[in-house]
Amino acid sequence: MRCETCPHRCEVGPGQTGRCRARGWRDGDVAPLSYGRLTSLAMDPVEKKPLAAWKPGHYLLSVGSYGCNLRCPFCQNHSIAQAGAADVPWREVSPAELVALCTEARSRDPRVVGIAHTYNEPLVAWEYVRDVGMLAHEEGLANVLVSNGCAQPWVIDTLAPLVDAANIDLKGFTEDYYRWCGGDLATVKACIERLAAEPGCHLEVTCLVVPDRNDDPAQMRALAAWLAQVDPHITLHVTRYFPRWKMEGGRPTPVATVYGLADVARESLPHVVVGNC
Ligand code: SF4
Repeated sequence: MRCETCPHRCEVGPGQTGRCRARGWRDGDVAPLSYGRLTSLAMDPVEKKPLAAWKPGHYLLSVGSYGCNLRCPFCQNHSIAQAGAADVPWREVSPAELVALCTEARSRDPRVVGIAHTYNEPLVAWEYVRDVGMLAHEEGLANVLVSNGCAQPWVIDTLAPLVDAANIDLKGFTEDYYRWCGGDLATVKACIERLAAEPGCHLEVTCLVVPDRNDDPAQMRALAAWLAQVDPHITLHVTRYFPRWKMEGGRPTPVATVYGLADVARESLPHVVVGNC
């Protein structure tokens, strides 16, 4: 069977999982095996997602599972994102249980406004984002997506009305850079355009700056100019990278580089913030 969730379009046979290790064979079809299998659950400030211009001072019950459809050598969450079911402890939490946990938390602290799908790549089990979103909305809770944006347009179309706020990674602005990460730029651009067009979805974008890889000012200039043409009010987060996973032992992005690239982005965008500095 072929999985049509993301551009990898993995062929999956009995007993196999796809490249993301989250979707795999079940009962003659490709299913989201990681659905509801939570490896992480924490109450985070919205600013940590990061969202700079949406409900400041509020909190999101943040959940992650395992798996990712990209292979960024610098993955900041590799222990769960580059893992499969057998590699990491998880606990099954149904959408109803998760929404109940969040409403309970809100009853104790009214600054809790919803649920964030984050930490690993949520779109590899997009059905969980959908099902949690529907129940969360019934309870007046927000449904937030933090994602690499690498999914087929029909997945984004399905989720867009169920997402109140999103932060999408725009890792770089060349196909070469995306190939290095195991994805493709065109798919991410389409995701950003689709979410920006969704009236009920607040959208922000993050670019993690990796030294000598995507720190060319010309690349940042092109990225910001394109984003401004999608929506000039989008907040862009230009963030500092720290060596992780396959790039352990390297050097973090110099702070001056991050600030310099943020200034370049401000040539096109009024809302640019730096992160991890
Ligand atoms: S979501 Fe996973 S299984 Fe499906 S095509 Fe993408 S990498 Fe392959």
